[in-house]
Amino acid sequence: MIENIKRKRLSKDERMRILNMFDGHCAYCGCKIEYNEMQIDHVIPLRRGGADTVENMLPACRSCNHYKSTLDLEDFRKMIEKMPDTLIRDSVTYKNAVRFGVVVPNKLPVIFYFENHPEPWEGAEAK
Ligand SMILES: [Zn+2]
Repeated sequence: MIENIKRKRLSKDERMRILNMFDGHCAYCGCKIEYNEMQIDHVIPLRRGGADTVENMLPACRSCNHYKSTLDLEDFRKMIEKMPDTLIRDSVTYKNAVRFGVVVPNKLPVIFYFENHPEPWEGAEAK
């Protein structure tokens, strides 16, 4: 059974402030997100004891929020860093693309968008 965790209901103004934290970008991959498609990620997941407060929330695209799920930041980072290995293991197409040199695995450390951008929370205004 899925445990039901009560979440804070955010006002539109609070949601706008979260979206504007990184000028409308996903805090993880940095893609541009619209208000209606923004998901709010709990950096420390509620299931891992994270607080249901705005300080523990970041704007995320659907894909990042889905992949991060109940992982904390470092486990999410490790999962992404392992993706080339996962693809080599699981995808014949990827394996062949690497073999023929049309795809080159890049084993780089993952740096999240918000880590490269100073937190603009203080100056974020609801637009
Ligand atoms: Zn994203």
